[in-house]
Amino acid sequence: MTNTLYDALIAPHATNGAVFLTLDDGSRVTYAEYVARVAQLANVLGDAGVKPGDRVVVQAPKLLDTVALYGAALQSGAVYLPLNTAYTKSELTYFIEDAAPALIVCDVRDETEVSDAAQKKTPVLTLAKAGDGTISRKANGKSKSFQTVPRGPDDLAALLYTSGTTGRSKGAMLSHKNLLSNAASLADLWHITRNDRLVHALPIFHTHGLFVAMNTSLLAGAEVRLMADFDLDTIIAEIPASTLLMGVPTFYTRLLADPRLTRSLVENMRLFVSGSAPLLAETHTAFEDRTGHRILERYGMTETNMITSNPYEAERLAGTVGYALPGTEVEITDGGTPVAPGQVGMIEVRGDNVFQGYWNMPEKTAEELRDNGFFITGDLGVKSEDGRISIVGRQKDLIISGGYNIYPKEIEDVINDIDGVVESAVFGVPNADFGESVFAAVVCQDPSLSEDDIASKVEPKLARFKHPRRYILKDALPRNTMGKVQKNILRKTYGDSE
Ligand code: ATP
Ligand code: MG
Repeated sequence: MTNTLYDALIAPHATNGAVFLTLDDGSRVTYAEYVARVAQLANVLGDAGVKPGDRVVVQAPKLLDTVALYGAALQSGAVYLPLNTAYTKSELTYFIEDAAPALIVCDVRDETEVSDAAQKKTPVLTLAKAGDGTISRKANGKSKSFQTVPRGPDDLAALLYTSGTTGRSKGAMLSHKNLLSNAASLADLWHITRNDRLVHALPIFHTHGLFVAMNTSLLAGAEVRLMADFDLDTIIAEIPASTLLMGVPTFYTRLLADPRLTRSLVENMRLFVSGSAPLLAETHTAFEDRTGHRILERYGMTETNMITSNPYEAERLAGTVGYALPGTEVEITDGGTPVAPGQVGMIEVRGDNVFQGYWNMPEKTAEELRDNGFFITGDLGVKSEDGRISIVGRQKDLIISGGYNIYPKEIEDVINDIDGVVESAVFGVPNADFGESVFAAVVCQDPSLSEDDIASKVEPKLARFKHPRRYILKDALPRNTMGKVQKNILRKTYGDSE
């Protein structure tokens, strides 16, 4: 009997005495101990009536048992459904109603709220930092072996909701093959081995922290320093004994803001990976100047896992996300027809990494997943002659003014280059004459910078039709819980001001 992901990621470690997880309190969990804990939790899932194909919702802190629950869901043939820990009760109600799980596991501190959201329809078990949540206590008395439920490559392994940057989160159905093929490509490309030690400070409810980081580590047998939360001091303390860091761009800007980041601190490090949002070229360069390391930027999304990566050996270029992963095809198209190198178009992707469709959204699935297997990502990009991809932005953020296509990123790059500017977000608002007008929200470090100062620095560098009609100085840009800028909120807030 086979179970595609369990057999590849977990079963091979049954007698592996190497350390898998090192936790915040310094305790270490070997691979063999992890496999045993997975089985104990799988036994609890079985007792709770979880059947193959059932969804198991997990909204919980980053604990050993949270990581083990992922394995337990796989071993029992269930569909793992992690949720962002920042979701409120009303958001939770949506996910629970949409996914109709057989079981919900939550932080003990949220038990009442989650039980309310579940409206007594779904059993709720808990996880707690002290290890005494109800699911952990039940697992303690269980057998350390469990009859693995057979699952094939096309069976669902996980239902992962998108980050909700452009609208309501959608459930992406991911099969065993989707996840395994991507983990195998990444582990191979990034040379991840049992000699690696990963500093893991990402959330494990998102594709980055759960699949990119955890699946590759499990596949390679690497050690994971599992940090419950992002904490700069801990990252800095762990770096000398580690080889790998996977982060979002803010990790790198925060590290750069700290004088303890030096060449000697990172002597033992092999690779720094960035993704989930665009890494500013300036961050890339500053990081290299300070440490001698070129951050490796990659690109992916919930629906497709990772799509492209900068090379491990060859040159890593700032501002590009690299080449299509082996086994993944990337086309830049206009209405499905590939455009010439250097032309902007829709990024479309095909391969074993591409999801099975949106949960409960057959129409949306049909709109975005072509019959020939290509998925229309919603991101605009350019391919160079030699196949490197650069992301231009989301199609939803494209501004069309007076018949011209205006790419916000081009304008943001110019604004961000001004001394005293921290970051910016350029967006379109409806305009009766032009269709849309260009607006720019700008966060400045230098309080003396005025809207006019910024305009006078931007205008000589851009064609007139690209000049923002309005600059809005802000203390911060609106971001969702994954730290992504929400331009839909900016459009809504300033949409009537034209
Ligand atoms: P939603 O689909 O719900 O609006 P989302 O697209 O932000 O939310 P995710 O699947 O978490 O949800 O994010 C994928 C998106 O993140 C990609 O489509 C892309 O726009 C962006 N992204 C990921 N990596 C990069 C990168 N290296 N550079 C630029 N953008 C990136
Ligand atoms: Mg998306």
